[in-house]
Amino acid sequence: MTWKIFGHDGAVNYLKRQCEPGNMRHAYLITGPEGIGRLTLAKAFVKALNCQNPPAKHDFCNACQACRQIEAEAWPDLTILRPTENARDIKIDQVRQMQQSLALAPYQSQWRVVIIPDFQNATVAASNALLKSLEEPPARAIIILTADARENLLETIASRCGILRLRPMSVGAVARVLQSELNLDEDDAKMIAHLAGGRVGTAIHFAQNPDLFEQYHDTLAQLHEILPETKRARLQYAEGVSKRKGSQRENISTLLSVWLTFWRDVMIAHSGADLPIVNLVQRDVVKTVAGQLSLPQIESILKAHEKGLEQIDANVNSRLVLENILLNIPRLKV
Ligand SMILES: [Zn+2]
Repeated sequence: MTWKIFGHDGAVNYLKRQCEPGNMRHAYLITGPEGIGRLTLAKAFVKALNCQNPPAKHDFCNACQACRQIEAEAWPDLTILRPTENARDIKIDQVRQMQQSLALAPYQSQWRVVIIPDFQNATVAASNALLKSLEEPPARAIIILTADARENLLETIASRCGILRLRPMSVGAVARVLQSELNLDEDDAKMIAHLAGGRVGTAIHFAQNPDLFEQYHDTLAQLHEILPETKRARLQYAEGVSKRKGSQRENISTLLSVWLTFWRDVMIAHSGADLPIVNLVQRDVVKTVAGQLSLPQIESILKAHEKGLEQIDANVNSRLVLENILLNIPRLKV
């Protein structure tokens, strides 16, 4: 395994086989949750196809001009099609434009590649337009789509692609990657791996962005501050959160995701199971809170957070969701 892709050996081997003459398909679909490494894998595939100094067959050096340009998304035969600024999804015009360029021969390599990340966000019109390229693929062109799940794409599209499903790694395996690749110590590596939920890309992102980490601790500290508070103080807090800058929906969704890791730990601590706890540095708070709640109470708090996140996804007013959750947590000592 030399692609420096962690936890997806099956996918890497599959793509290496595609590099053999005659095996190449015109379209691939890489699915899996955000942060799992879909785009990284797609780029690695393009590097393997174009590396000027491959250390082994179907491998890449990550240092030659081709590898560096692909990494920087500046390789002339690679297009990464993303929504235009302020748009959430790929539009039909972008697909049409891409199709025109795909019809031309590659500039300096054997293949012209288009990667379209998060194709589940494409409009139906854009999907239908892309279908044409999949039905009558131009010669020497490869289209790589990524998506959260195959089910979120038109079946007529998915069925024309070679499909690679990426799954989260075990937390232990992600922690080992962080230790070996980023020289993190064991405690930090475990904590970050847990937070990232086994998604190695997200874990590396956390490890490389201490700011995110600080925000995480700050978010947890806010929860600890309001747990002993009255309903009135909690409502005031919710109001404050809803006025913070940025998208209210995203702010509250992030808040709840972080708090969820805390309540999962409380559940673990309550059960007395010898499972790893995410919030290692908060171990004492976790234990104190766990000692004041019954199992059904903890389960109900956990469910409320999970349901809240779903509701926010479904566009329910996020401030109401937050208030509802806060009002249903008993007053606790921390
Ligand atoms: Zn190279």
